[in-house]
Amino acid sequence: MEQEIVALQSTAKEMLAAVEDTTQLEEFRIRFLGRKGQFGALMKGLGKVAKEDKPRLGQMANAAKKEMEKLFSEKKQALTSFTAGSVSGAGIDLTLPGRRPEKGQLHPVTQIMNEVCSIFENLGFSVAEGPDVEHDHYNFEALNIPAHHPARDMHDTFYVSDSILLRTHTSPMQARIMETREPPLRVIAPGKVYRCDSDITHTPMFHQVEGFLVDRDVSFADLKGVLTVFTRKMFKKDLALRFRPSFFPFTEPSAEVDIACVICDGKGCRVCKKTGWLEILGAGMIDPEVFKMVGYNPEKYSGFAFGLGIERIAMLKYGIDDIRLYYENDLRFLSQF
Ligand SMILES: [Zn+2]
Repeated sequence: MEQEIVALQSTAKEMLAAVEDTTQLEEFRIRFLGRKGQFGALMKGLGKVAKEDKPRLGQMANAAKKEMEKLFSEKKQALTSFTAGSVSGAGIDLTLPGRRPEKGQLHPVTQIMNEVCSIFENLGFSVAEGPDVEHDHYNFEALNIPAHHPARDMHDTFYVSDSILLRTHTSPMQARIMETREPPLRVIAPGKVYRCDSDITHTPMFHQVEGFLVDRDVSFADLKGVLTVFTRKMFKKDLALRFRPSFFPFTEPSAEVDIACVICDGKGCRVCKKTGWLEILGAGMIDPEVFKMVGYNPEKYSGFAFGLGIERIAMLKYGIDDIRLYYENDLRFLSQF
């Protein structure tokens, strides 16, 4: 019996020393220390020894079991605690960086939109938002685009019904704000707009920011000043601006505004098609007809308005050549900004 105890203890010690992971450790526990384990069997065997040997052998067996339990719990701690010494050689390289949780971030279009808004807010503009589903009246009529006006063809409108549509620009906010407020006004209206059009520079839904300022004696020079400050802050460069005559039914005179190409600094490249200029927005002095429709006196007030495409600005700022990338939700693309 004495030998049995010594033999079992030495086998158990050997096996424990060979244990390399927690699975093996659990197998060890069941085999030796569990309810039906070998130490349990040994204790039962004590019932059969001679009466005078019982105390001595009992003590010995108990001590052996206690020692194994102690060694077992030490081993367990060594396997589960992550100190360099205890796990080296267990296939874990503690010098490797951990797996970080993915960090979320704002979509590049949202980032640009926020930046545009903040630049104009610093210039004293307030931000207003309006509905995506709009009345034909605000989208067209109130902006001097009556039914059958040829300008409607340019808009590729999604109609919900004869008089309800998805707004094709953020300009309806001009009429909505002017209807309810008196000048002086300095407002920008960012938001989604919709047109039935899709290719590498057009998506059916995109974002615009409409801006307008109405007061006494507002001139084209004020428009130029505001847009110059805006483009320089946006692109963080002293960019040259160029105004080309254009036509919008709700501004007179109207202009397309170009900036010196941000990629080549006006020298000519693929992005600016060798012209050195990039078209960035449309603008003009608000047409007196628009003022009359909202009840302003065009003799008393004048104002300017402009509209710019957020995706377009983001494309120029980041040098992206396909607008559809914004909406494919590819995190490899989106996480670069
Ligand atoms: Zn260029």
